[in-house]
Amino acid sequence: MIERSEKIKLFSQRLKNAKKANRYFYMREIQGPSRAKVIVEGKEYINFASYSYLGISDHPDIMQAAKNAIDKYGSATGGVRLLAGTTTLHKKLEEKLAEFKKVEAAITYSSGYVANLSSISSLTSTKDIIVMDKLDHASIIDGCMLSGAHFRTYKHNNMKHLEKILEKNKDYNIKLIIVDAVFSMDGDIADLPNIRKLADKYGADVMIDEAHALGVLGETGRGIEEHFNIDGSVDIKMGTLSKTIPSVGGYIAGNKDLINYLKHISRGFVFSASLPPSSVAAALAALNVMEKETWRYEKLRENTRLFNQGLIEMGYNTMNSETAVVPILIGDEERTLELARFVNDNGIYVCPILYPAIPKNTNRIRNHVMATHSIKDINKALDIYYKGGKKIGIK
Ligand SMILES: *Cc1c(COP(=O)(O)O)cnc(C)c1O
Repeated sequence: MIERSEKIKLFSQRLKNAKKANRYFYMREIQGPSRAKVIVEGKEYINFASYSYLGISDHPDIMQAAKNAIDKYGSATGGVRLLAGTTTLHKKLEEKLAEFKKVEAAITYSSGYVANLSSISSLTSTKDIIVMDKLDHASIIDGCMLSGAHFRTYKHNNMKHLEKILEKNKDYNIKLIIVDAVFSMDGDIADLPNIRKLADKYGADVMIDEAHALGVLGETGRGIEEHFNIDGSVDIKMGTLSKTIPSVGGYIAGNKDLINYLKHISRGFVFSASLPPSSVAAALAALNVMEKETWRYEKLRENTRLFNQGLIEMGYNTMNSETAVVPILIGDEERTLELARFVNDNGIYVCPILYPAIPKNTNRIRNHVMATHSIKDINKALDIYYKGGKKIGIK
């Protein structure tokens, strides 16, 4: 066993080496809003690292709403939601989220991470079973561990394997299937129609994490149910206020009883301060913008097609991406870093994703397309990737 101090020392050495070799891409300082073009440490880049898919993080309506909220409510609430921390804005946001997600009610948490951790652990316990996709987000895994429930993972989007696990565990009383709508590292979409069928067959509930799906999937950005045209097939709808919605926080949307239960039982809500009014107002204004400016969804899809198709044509492997998350699978760590260096040096702001954040030997550069990228931005990025691909020998 390696001692803690040894572990930290080894990591420090690794970090130092990466920086010395010019192979460290993280926590660079961004000097302005998260737009399609960003200034990073004094230099302008085309931004392919932002989760702000619709490009509304500096939308004037949203910024104004946040400023007004500070004027009216101050910078913080001074309490947890159950006690002194619920303002009119908090109520309005939860009502709006419920309406947008076409359910009765919603609850907000201080982050998406906390929303998963806190809801999963208060909905299941040691007698229950949770079944999840192998590629589910870390916050879902942590939620499962905190709950103490048994949990099994099925092979990525493999419905046969999901059924096998459900069949084997059909005697559990509470069965919960938890899946990412859009897989955050791969950009593909969960097979919700078949997950629902299997859930019905085996008496399980379905919880879907729409962190990368809200504002991305569906004609009007409502998410995975709209994408498959199967409204009402998700029992527990989780999402974040920090990706397409340019704020911070997480939510669970569902029926009234579920939400009331979470509001009084889930510890991340009960024992943690409420979201600051400015963040709540920004999220609320963002939902209004998303209802009005529907052109953004079509533009995002058009940009995504153009970018993904362009990469495939030059020989890159973008996995099974169908969304604005467009990974470029390289595999080997050194070549991934070399390509990342090249494209960053040439004006694309993007980060490599390395093991252990993803399975071994599936190192990749993960791109995020925005509705506000111009055709020129996309073509320029493709050109840089083309040259980078030649350099590291793609094809
Ligand atoms: C980002 C993300 C989260 C966490 O959301 P935060 O609001 O950033 O804490 C949860 N699940 C998935 C799938 C995510 O991509």
